[in-house]
Amino acid sequence: MSDGDVQVSSARRKRVQRLKKYIVGMLVGGIMTPLVLCIVLWIQVRHLGQVLERLTGEVQELSDQVRAQQERMDEFVAAEAITGQGNPVSSESNRELAGHASEPLTGELVLPEEPEPEPEETPAHRVYLTFDDGPSIYTDDILDILDTYDVKATFFVLGKETDSAREAMKDIVDRGHTLGMHSYSHKYTEIYESVESFAEDFTKLQDYLYEVTGVKSSVYRFPGGSSNTVSSLDMREFAEYLDEQDVRFFDWNISSGDGSSRLLSVEDLVKNCTAGIEKRGTSVILLHDSANKSTTVEALPIIIENILAMEDTVILPITDETEPVQHIH
Ligand code: ZN
Repeated sequence: MSDGDVQVSSARRKRVQRLKKYIVGMLVGGIMTPLVLCIVLWIQVRHLGQVLERLTGEVQELSDQVRAQQERMDEFVAAEAITGQGNPVSSESNRELAGHASEPLTGELVLPEEPEPEPEETPAHRVYLTFDDGPSIYTDDILDILDTYDVKATFFVLGKETDSAREAMKDIVDRGHTLGMHSYSHKYTEIYESVESFAEDFTKLQDYLYEVTGVKSSVYRFPGGSSNTVSSLDMREFAEYLDEQDVRFFDWNISSGDGSSRLLSVEDLVKNCTAGIEKRGTSVILLHDSANKSTTVEALPIIIENILAMEDTVILPITDETEPVQHIH
């Protein structure tokens, strides 16, 4: 081997060593560093996973508690609804003792010690005094009689335009009675000519009463009643119109008889007005507040006294809750 050859192989060795260092450096820098980083990250991910697991467990536990609370609340509300003021703790422990948690609450409840106040019972017989055709010269007298007995009635009035009529309309309202409508004109042929003419008369009266008293009346009595034989149109057409106006009509199931042309005696009026009340739940009595019906005013105190003396019977004004008495349906 010549000196030249030795120099060449020494230089090559150095180059190879440099290359080796370079490769080792690459290995350490390019592979080991990411590997270490990966390990560190993996440890952190594991740790976070454990934290997450623990938190999930806690959340689950909390939601279980909330559900249990909700169930207790539901039981409390159910017990309350059944007993009125309820004793949910007792009812719950009772059920648990009996071991029938899913059984209905009824029958296992401990009733409250304080007895519930009796609900106010509706009297068996409800009587409604109704006066048609007013106001008249007798309206004041009728109102005074009603006041004497602390009784409220219903007045189906006409569209009378005198000052005294307007005052009477206001008095009816102010003294707590029901102001009903009985047509503006009371002229059968005009009112029942068509639905349009009926509507015109109706609106005129409702507006007039509102203007005078501030009350928008919502009850109506057909002149002649819904079963009258005067109307050429089917009365159901007018009834439908009233229904559209959110107004209810009332007929009667007791007639005093004071609508007849001859003046009835006080005795007959009392007899007519009090017959059959004890057999019915709702009695609507037809009377008239009219200048030629003097005996109606005379009979009124006796009629009221006789009705008030009946057992389980009350006199009421017609309201939106009153069961309607109607001749046609
Ligand atoms: Zn009438």
